[in-house]
Amino acid sequence: MINKSEIEALMTRAPKPGSPVLSVFLHAEPSEMTNINHAFMVQFKNALRPIENGIAALKDKSAQKEMQRELAADVERVQRFIVDYEAHARSLAIFCDASEDLFWTRPINVPLRSQVRWEETPYVRPLLEIFDEYERYGVVLTDSEQARLFTVFLGEIEEEREAFNDLEVRHIKTTGTDHSRSQMNIQRKADEHAKHHLKIVAEMMDDLARRYEFSRLILAGPVEATSELADLLPKHLRERVVASIALPIEASESEVLAETLRIEERIERERELNAVEELITAARKGAQAVLGIEPTLLALQEGRILRLLYADQARFRGARCTNCGALFADGRAACDYCGSSLQPTDDLIEEAVTRAADQDAQVELVRGAAGERLQAEGGIGAFLRY
Ligand SMILES: [Zn+2]
Repeated sequence: MINKSEIEALMTRAPKPGSPVLSVFLHAEPSEMTNINHAFMVQFKNALRPIENGIAALKDKSAQKEMQRELAADVERVQRFIVDYEAHARSLAIFCDASEDLFWTRPINVPLRSQVRWEETPYVRPLLEIFDEYERYGVVLTDSEQARLFTVFLGEIEEEREAFNDLEVRHIKTTGTDHSRSQMNIQRKADEHAKHHLKIVAEMMDDLARRYEFSRLILAGPVEATSELADLLPKHLRERVVASIALPIEASESEVLAETLRIEERIERERELNAVEELITAARKGAQAVLGIEPTLLALQEGRILRLLYADQARFRGARCTNCGALFADGRAACDYCGSSLQPTDDLIEEAVTRAADQDAQVELVRGAAGERLQAEGGIGAFLRY
């Protein structure tokens, strides 16, 4: 599982003058997963083109040659990796500086926007964003006797085998008081025992939530156990419970993961739909929000975007100013701001998203029902800083 200290190590790497780092983020939809190497290669080459064009436009020919050689070495290394890559995740992050022997790569099981940068330092921002954006889930799987804890983050699962280590100890300690109840019928005793077990589990959850830092909780196991546990949890933890699911205590990691991702997906879709509704309402009231491509591009030009939302089906052609870089949706003859000539672009969203990210705006792709809802309102919009 990717952790923040790896990213921090990349961030603190000192820039090597004249030797930029190629930062690559690629993403495949599940429908493309059968031919992922091809999908990744096409994306990589497309995203690389603006960088190559930028170098080709340099006036200083000797600097240009030097940069082309540096870039070619990084590109070659990345391509070699992509060709042989065996996909087991939907996204891939790569940081490469061939001349400095830097090659860092990680499959990431959440959608990342495809992009390539070639800069002095590794462009880690997309990775930092997913740490902020994605919630860590705790899954407690329990029956009347045992308990297991899993954490799920960024599409990956880990069983925390240490979590319930002292569960057994606490059971043994307390069974001593049971001797006097030897007359109790077996069923009743079993029920008592189960309740006692779940009570300890519930008590331990407080510590575990802190230790494993999960913000949402899923209760899993036989229905009797999960509903009993839900009642026993302290209130602040009960509020974090997002679902109860029926699973056998011996369920495999992949079963627990599949169920968790299904729930996470549903919650994420609901959150997106709420965000889109909120955006539409705010934009209609004129309350620091805009909807539609033209108003969004204007806000972008003014550096006012706080959070940009766009629908996965939104597509716009447009133009970019060759001088100041301003973006326009329709066919103008010249730039509104500086009067220079415009160059057509097929993927205006991609350009707008990159620019918004450069302005430290949050950028969010919305899918499903939320995507359709936003598409009907112009496909793109933004909450504004002021
Ligand atoms: Zn211009």
